[in-house]
Amino acid sequence: MIIVMQENSPKQDALNVVEHVRQLGLQPVLLEGTERNVIAVIGDERILDVPVLNAMTSVEKVMPVLAPFKLASREHAKTKTVITVAPNVSIGGTRLAIMAGNCAVETLDVSLRTAQAVQHAGATIQRGGAFKPRTSPYSFQGLGEEGLFILREVKKQTGLPIITEVLDPRQIELVAEHADILQVGTRNMQNFELLRELGNCGKPVLLKRGMAATLDEFLMSAEYILSSGNPNLILCERGIRTYETATRNTLDISAIPVLKVKTHLPVIVDPSHAAGKRAYVAALAKAAIAAGADGLLLDVHPDPARSLVDADQALSFEQFDDLMTDITLIAQAVDRTI
Ligand code: PEP
Ligand code: MN
Repeated sequence: MIIVMQENSPKQDALNVVEHVRQLGLQPVLLEGTERNVIAVIGDERILDVPVLNAMTSVEKVMPVLAPFKLASREHAKTKTVITVAPNVSIGGTRLAIMAGNCAVETLDVSLRTAQAVQHAGATIQRGGAFKPRTSPYSFQGLGEEGLFILREVKKQTGLPIITEVLDPRQIELVAEHADILQVGTRNMQNFELLRELGNCGKPVLLKRGMAATLDEFLMSAEYILSSGNPNLILCERGIRTYETATRNTLDISAIPVLKVKTHLPVIVDPSHAAGKRAYVAALAKAAIAAGADGLLLDVHPDPARSLVDADQALSFEQFDDLMTDITLIAQAVDRTI
């Protein structure tokens, strides 16, 4: 970190900063200039509180050198993280991870038919929400534990690993017993207690970007899970709130290359919750793969219009099939496989 003092400010003010830094166990180096003093800090600057430094007398600016998210950053791990979900299913390697299924678990019949259809088309992970985060308390909230049993039964019959959402720290034990990946939804990206508790859930976690979160905030949330002891973390871009109303959210395609530079963690894209309308989902999915995403999370339903949750955005089996055909071609162009 570099701390720049105001022009012609008293040397004592710089010495106060030096003392503050030293007291926190870091090594300050005072560089005395003709017009201003500068303090270079050696050591892990992330323990320093930037607003506190900024508030010190005569401090003009504070320039961190390291990314504030230590474990998530490329500085920490130079090679991409590959997460093994099942013996033959991993996320972050050459092969794309396609996760598809119902938004909410409805019945065993619907879940099973969906899983068989998406598996046949090339998906390797089944999705389905048992606990649903709904805007209205009067909307269908999911089947809860019964939903988890359904996913488990579908896994038994198809072999497809399960991704499902966890809403609350009190649900972690139960969800982790059935799921292969625990999903944290956009509304919970800054539920820090939940993030911390997921540090020792023993399963990979997929963290969705908050709908109004910057990428640095997203990575700081990732840091909560990583620093609590769970290295098996997958990031998911799912669209952010903008002034545009033609789509449910605006898919931030640029998040993919930016995250690829900032972090070693796999990046998945959910074009279903971004678009909110099935007519736009395929284009966004293809764009995401072309931009370097490690996989997709998609809503699919045997009778999309009758989906209990998010009926506007679910793809039919046929639409999913067509999308997978297109994705196979795009994957080749970016050196990935399905
Ligand atoms: C979901 O994937 O089911 C979901 C609720 O998504 P999000 O958290 O992105 O809204
Ligand atoms: Mn949904």
